[in-house]
Amino acid sequence: MQGYRNLSIEEALREIEHRIGPYIGRGKVADYIPVLKKVDPDQFAMAVTTVDGREYKIGNWDTGFSIQSISKAFNLTKALGKRGDQIWKRVRQEPSGRAFNSIIQLESENGIPRNPFINPGAIVIADLLHEIFEHPVEEMLDFIRKLAQNDSICINEEVFQSEKDSGAGNYSSAYLIKSFGNLHSDVHKVLSTYFALCSIEMNTLDLARSFLFLANHGRLLSGEEIVSIQQAKRINAVMLTCGTYDNVGEFAYRVGLPAKSGVGGGIAATYPGEFSIAVWSPGLNEKGNSVAGFKALEDFTTLISKSIF
Ligand code: GLN
Repeated sequence: MQGYRNLSIEEALREIEHRIGPYIGRGKVADYIPVLKKVDPDQFAMAVTTVDGREYKIGNWDTGFSIQSISKAFNLTKALGKRGDQIWKRVRQEPSGRAFNSIIQLESENGIPRNPFINPGAIVIADLLHEIFEHPVEEMLDFIRKLAQNDSICINEEVFQSEKDSGAGNYSSAYLIKSFGNLHSDVHKVLSTYFALCSIEMNTLDLARSFLFLANHGRLLSGEEIVSIQQAKRINAVMLTCGTYDNVGEFAYRVGLPAKSGVGGGIAATYPGEFSIAVWSPGLNEKGNSVAGFKALEDFTTLISKSIF
């Protein structure tokens, strides 16, 4: 009898390329930020980078897309790296069990958002970035370019404008947080930073590369420390418990990796000690996660028989 064989990364990607077709284009492209709905839904990409320096990619891996909430992982990294555990006085580390843009818990929990990956939490982190840096957007762009080794990464101005024009919910959250004293800078300034960082455009390989330090105990492959081992552990933990909205339970169950998703259809995930992986396909499920991306990650961890569980 032939024994079961785990596939290599390369074989798994080839298999996924073969099977993912029926899932591409499923779901709904985000339209509450009007510019995002212009994206062609029939696209799919996947890229893997390993801590021993290998890179793999399939599909539309070099097409740029809006990273949206994936930026929240970079922002948390910078805030935690600069301010350490102080930040947890202003934002907690618990899953919210609610939509990423929900405002409901904010009032009953005194303006302290549940975690840094829901919009209210990311707004508090953006406020912290204003306290840390004079020019937070430029600092964050430089940081992301360095992680991704790509100096051409920039903000999509059309998406940025569209976010501002359709951001009433985020303005409500920010003012409510401010009324509890948990937002120190000007609301418009903080939200402009928050929207600008959501509007950064990257391709799927950029994204896999930029998450590799989280799989490499906080270090770039050059050895340069981005955050400490403990901080890398914590960021991965918050991604696992809060990174894919109120879909985290199903995501842990089916994929089993720490991850951060965005409504542009991207998902970036890590397998600490081994690799980072990014997927992109614009059609979203009702929670806001890429349908084909979710399925491809599930198939990937199953085919290579590796997840953190
Ligand atoms: N810019 C989006 C917003 O503020 C980000 C949401 C997301 O990707 N979940 O709603």
